[in-house]
Amino acid sequence: MNCTLTPPDTLSKRSDDPLQYISASRLKCWQECSLKWYFRYIEQIPTVTSPALLVGKVVHEVLQFWNLSRWRGRDSSVKRMQQVFEACWAQLCEESDMHWEPLEKEGKEKTKAWSILEFYFQNTPIPEDEKPEAVEVRVERDLDAHGLPPLLGIIDLVRDGGRIVDFKTTAQTPKHSMVRHTNEIQMGIYGLLYREATGHTESGFEIHSMVKTKQPKLVITTMEPLFPDQTRKLVRLMESYVRGVVAEEFLPSPGMHCQWCDYFRQCRAWKGGSS
Ligand code: SF4
Repeated sequence: MNCTLTPPDTLSKRSDDPLQYISASRLKCWQECSLKWYFRYIEQIPTVTSPALLVGKVVHEVLQFWNLSRWRGRDSSVKRMQQVFEACWAQLCEESDMHWEPLEKEGKEKTKAWSILEFYFQNTPIPEDEKPEAVEVRVERDLDAHGLPPLLGIIDLVRDGGRIVDFKTTAQTPKHSMVRHTNEIQMGIYGLLYREATGHTESGFEIHSMVKTKQPKLVITTMEPLFPDQTRKLVRLMESYVRGVVAEEFLPSPGMHCQWCDYFRQCRAWKGGSS
């Protein structure tokens, strides 16, 4: 298909071209609700960091440090990670301008964040001496052949042997079937990017879901390497996404996900326009 990367009207009013590249998060947001996508990527309405998002960010930062430490052969002990956690928590609270209401809430969230990390370090299937193949690697893939913008992504971790790992924090214990269903696009994109960067096929995927229950849990969901059918499906989704953005099809998709939408107020005030 042919598409213009800087379509007329609303999109051209912004300096950032939302179709400069495609990413898993943009595609996922579009699939959830195109109006939400519009508020996030066209209007760029600032959002407030929720405690759940803060916990997720801190956990992600500490795991990134842990993976980098193992990669570089540095101290990756639980004791060291606790020090890193303390520093990350303080820094991200400040950067996110967190206002804890009531004040005790910070202590509860912080305890919860460390307890899922500690549980992870005690129960991870990744041996401490396993050297990663890559950590937080940024990869771009040209999709010119499909008439699409380039694909861009950052892969959390590639384990030895080409096993792509993504870390998630979640409030409820997930079912494997649901994890596979909701993450197929993201993992598919990572698979395409990995193949571009290495010239090899990934050996599979692992999603490490850290569950924020009172007694933390760890659910490891595995997925097979990308099949040709899945690649075709991904291309169809990306084509549909680009068509929708170019046509400015920004419409609400009400559902359960509206409960945690950052743009609920703007959505309720929306009058049917796109600017
Ligand atoms: S509240 Fe729901 S329908 Fe409205 S923008 Fe958010 S996700 Fe979309």
